[in-house]
Amino acid sequence: MKNIVLLGATGSIGDSCLNVIRQNKEHFHLFGIGLGGNLDKAQQIAKEFSPKHIFVAESHIDKSHDLLKSYPNILNTEDELQGLIQDPSVDIIISAISGFAGLKASYFAIDAGKTILIANKESIVAAGDILMPLAKTKNSEIIPVDSEHNAIYQCFPPHIDLKEISKIMITASGGPFRKKTFKELSGVTLQDALKHPTWSMGTKITIDSATLVNKCLELIEAHYLFQIPESKIEIVVHPQSIIHSMVTFIDGSTIAQMSNPNMEVPIANALGLDQRLPINFEAINFSGLNLSFEPIPDGREIIFEIAREVCNKKGNLGVIFNASNELAVDAFITKKIDFLAIYKVIQRTFDHFSCSKVSTLEDIFEYDKQARIQAEKVIKSLH
Ligand code: NAD
Ligand code: MG
Repeated sequence: MKNIVLLGATGSIGDSCLNVIRQNKEHFHLFGIGLGGNLDKAQQIAKEFSPKHIFVAESHIDKSHDLLKSYPNILNTEDELQGLIQDPSVDIIISAISGFAGLKASYFAIDAGKTILIANKESIVAAGDILMPLAKTKNSEIIPVDSEHNAIYQCFPPHIDLKEISKIMITASGGPFRKKTFKELSGVTLQDALKHPTWSMGTKITIDSATLVNKCLELIEAHYLFQIPESKIEIVVHPQSIIHSMVTFIDGSTIAQMSNPNMEVPIANALGLDQRLPINFEAINFSGLNLSFEPIPDGREIIFEIAREVCNKKGNLGVIFNASNELAVDAFITKKIDFLAIYKVIQRTFDHFSCSKVSTLEDIFEYDKQARIQAEKVIKSLH
């Protein structure tokens, strides 16, 4: 029986994780959950899984809520979050908080040498230079949950020599605006951007998928997780979202991982560690299948150039890229800027900074702060 702490339990990845755990109750115990909102949902989860501990981000504590009556010792400080993550009886941490807010949790898990299932790609993008070496020193195993990265993870034989890899291809659905020219994006609304063609996800990642910044974050995430140069990582649009990534080896073989788009599949793989866990899934209907591939849509290559620069230079560039995007997405959701302005905010914020080395987590937080201040200025200038 493995003890799990699920952070981001009330979100979309949280839902999928609970479904996998529900189907494999004999292997897993939900030791703790963490959330930043939706106390009603947390209460239902608590009723079904009886976690020993519940962490609620301080800003979301509501003392009048019934959850607090059944769990009077709800955790809410950063020290308490650290204590929960680093509890010696915890075997697996699932890092599924959305955005930069998830970084501290990922850091605490890695610093304690835990096995961490990482959905929170923003942690890796912003702090890859700190987290990856730390994982090595602390012997923490980082298992990717993001479907593309879990696919790559499944395509690699254990202990592969990275020199044997010729190319990694990360697929992208292309999002709701795949067929639009860059100019046509000027008229799109928030509602249009929230209509993802193949995946159902949280709001922030759905907007990132519409801008294709999600794929940029994934390129950087893959670069850090697998220590592969960006020049060996290709992004290809694959509208059916059946192949999640492919790896071509130097002997000419390409291995692809496939499933219908369903986050429970990569989560089951990650949670299984070395075992295959049974889940209910819709099998691929191969006879009706038409797989197609196309290049990144017109005009959006510029954002990938920035992401590739992040991979090549690293340091503070990942945290700046991530922070500028988070602010831009937030400004778009709150209708302060239009869709195309998201790209402007990222580009202008990114161009404002030069590359510097980062040595500590505090450096990351400092650059995050500075990038947010700068992005806010750009947003104001665009009003
Ligand atoms: P979501 O918005 O649906 O859920 C986010 C969760 O994080 C919620 O439980 C929320 O309460 C919690 N949270 C937010 N701020 C918090 C804080 N300060 N402290 C504690 N908890 C907090 O998001 P999601 O779609 O589930 O995505 C979660 C992460 O997984 C993101 O990093 C995303 O990029 C990544 N991811 C998601 C998918 C997907 O299919 N949804 C796929 C791949 C990767
Ligand atoms: Mg993904």
